[in-house]
Amino acid sequence: MVAAYIGLGSNLDDPAEQLSRAFMALAQIQNTRLVRYSSLYQSPPMGGMEQPDYINAAAVVDTALKPAELLQQLQVIETAQGRTKGERWGPRTLDLDLLIYGSSIIDTPDLKVPHPGMHDRAFVLYPLYELSPDLEIPGRGQIIELLKNCSSEGLIKI
Ligand code: ADP
Ligand code: MG
Repeated sequence: MVAAYIGLGSNLDDPAEQLSRAFMALAQIQNTRLVRYSSLYQSPPMGGMEQPDYINAAAVVDTALKPAELLQQLQVIETAQGRTKGERWGPRTLDLDLLIYGSSIIDTPDLKVPHPGMHDRAFVLYPLYELSPDLEIPGRGQIIELLKNCSSEGLIKI
């Protein structure tokens, strides 16, 4: 079994409800156990597009699935919760990102792990820190060190 960290985000159709449904769906993935999940955090949208605030969280699972298999399961859950392909960084009912898969570094067209950009995003790092304060982000270092350069301004734990 490998510990995998998943980032959750939503800013449409009752985001807090979307995330609680997503936690339940993560618990149902085959050959995978939901270990724990973080509080919900409200955060301002990235990218300057006019859109509602996001609700973000993180979860850790133990999984026997390969990274591509786990990503596929995450995409099934996104689709089941009404995710449609929209503009990059545009509003969405549910975004599930595979943030970390054990100590693996993966760089394929369909899957990049650790998730690019996660190391300087407050809405990813603070929920992850809540789950695992000793977490090492492969290729990036200790989460506590990354947090020193990442302001929590605008992030509200709810
Ligand atoms: P973002 O999460 O950056 O806003 P999207 O969720 O719209 O972007 O992007 C989905 C695409 O990103 C998928 O087609 C998937 O193949 C690709 N992708 C690459 N690496 C990852 C990852 N670590 N987690 C989730 N999707 C990834
Ligand atoms: Mg995504």
